[in-house]
Amino acid sequence: MAEPSENDCLFCAIVSGAVPAELVHEGERVVAFRDVSPQAPTHVLVIPRSHHRSVAALAADEPDALVDLVRAAEQVAKDQGEDSFRLVFNTGERSGQSVFHVHGHVLAGRDMTWPPG
Ligand code: AMP
Repeated sequence: MAEPSENDCLFCAIVSGAVPAELVHEGERVVAFRDVSPQAPTHVLVIPRSHHRSVAALAADEPDALVDLVRAAEQVAKDQGEDSFRLVFNTGERSGQSVFHVHGHVLAGRDMTWPPG
């Protein structure tokens, strides 16, 4: 199945405000919003404002934004009163990636199991 391009990307639409989301952080290069289908008491997605398909592409093309994303992830967890959190980047369809605009899942607020399913 073809991946959505920048022009029809759901998360680009959230960045522009065309699609509503519950924003919890807005920075110069990144924004964070609550996942619509939370898998933990805290489940927030942190994304760069610019469109990159994967965390590896972001690291290659805009490393400063990746640094901001990781810092924002920690801040989001702290703001929720959590000093323990999981930061997940699904990469590729087999890993479970369904939105091809890089996003870090910040999951916190419950005990986590390992390995992930
Ligand atoms: P992934 O499967 O890793 O690509 O993660 C995509 C995530 O986006 C899933 O956890 C979805 O629940 C979440 N999601 C999809 N649409 C929206 C939306 N409109 N607002 C917030 N989260 C969304």
